[in-house]
Amino acid sequence: MSFDLNALLRDNIKNLVPYSSARDEFKGEASVFLDANENAFGSPLQHDYNRYPDPLQHQVKHKLSKIKGVPAEHMFLGNGSDEAIDILYRAFCSPKIDNVVLVPPTYGMYEVSANINDVQVRKVNLTEDFQLNLDGIAEALDMHTKIIFICSPNNPTGNSINPLDIETLLINFPGIVVVDEAYINYSKQKSFTYSLPEFPNLVVLQTLSKAWGLAALRLGLAFASKEIIEVFNKIKPPYNINQATQDLVLEALDNYEVVNEWIRETIQERENLVNKLQELQQVERITPSDANFVLVKLQDPRGLYDNLVNQGIIVRDRSKVALCEGCLRITIGTRLENERLLTQIQEYYKSI
Ligand SMILES: *Cc1c(COP(=O)(O)O)cnc(C)c1O
Repeated sequence: MSFDLNALLRDNIKNLVPYSSARDEFKGEASVFLDANENAFGSPLQHDYNRYPDPLQHQVKHKLSKIKGVPAEHMFLGNGSDEAIDILYRAFCSPKIDNVVLVPPTYGMYEVSANINDVQVRKVNLTEDFQLNLDGIAEALDMHTKIIFICSPNNPTGNSINPLDIETLLINFPGIVVVDEAYINYSKQKSFTYSLPEFPNLVVLQTLSKAWGLAALRLGLAFASKEIIEVFNKIKPPYNINQATQDLVLEALDNYEVVNEWIRETIQERENLVNKLQELQQVERITPSDANFVLVKLQDPRGLYDNLVNQGIIVRDRSKVALCEGCLRITIGTRLENERLLTQIQEYYKSI
């Protein structure tokens, strides 16, 4: 396999002259900034938000780089992972011509983003044990296949995808292989960020929305070669990460100890919930999870779902999703929340 980034990019992106902002054109120190039509008087807030933020978020990347062990030039920050997913389509996939391969059951946003960008989706279901069907994927590929999206640990199944299978794709597929690691903090698997030097076609996605507890701030991360990151930066809106988010993330990244503690607790609670659920005869299967949720196959999923909703407990009904028939996806909560959930499940099954 020879990887040729230029051959993979859409022509309009290859030839794109990006927007040059006031902050791009003057980067030095100065005391009078009259170049960006900002309000020089200030902002009606305690904190000054009258100046445009750093388009490339240098400070945040510097801190993240130390935590993740990946140099800042290999890092893109997006307004949630959703922005990184959308940019991948806009960079590589010509509408109505190119296609991508998805491996259901998986995260729904890959398909929605394909539809928004008018890009064909080819689906190759995971196997019964929620692993890649490599032969099926090989058959689905053609010269217009630009991206394969893999989610590991996978949402909604919770299991990790065999890393050797992902490597097989990385070695043999000349397009982009995306490994979405939104739940990597809960997993025993090694992150694919460590494989970046080996694979020029690898893009790893992570997020601060899950283990880091910052879903409301919208910060997604993409890791890739410098060349791919340059393409991302060319396409993104100039100020895609607002100053309030940059300020708060900088502060949050210092508090990794509490985050690590929550990860340990979540895993403990997950094992506890799995053990208790397994005692119920109505529970048919629990997929071994490397994430902060479990996919549970059980009797009468819809009836149980409605009953839980009536009690103010919301889980995700995945029973209509391919290979997830009869399944609910349950996020791991606090000990109290998990106990309330268990009690209600037990009561429901006693009542029917
Ligand atoms: C939750 C989740 C994300 C996070 O998306 P953000 O836009 O960063 O909040 C990404 N991928 C998967 C598979 C997820 O489950």
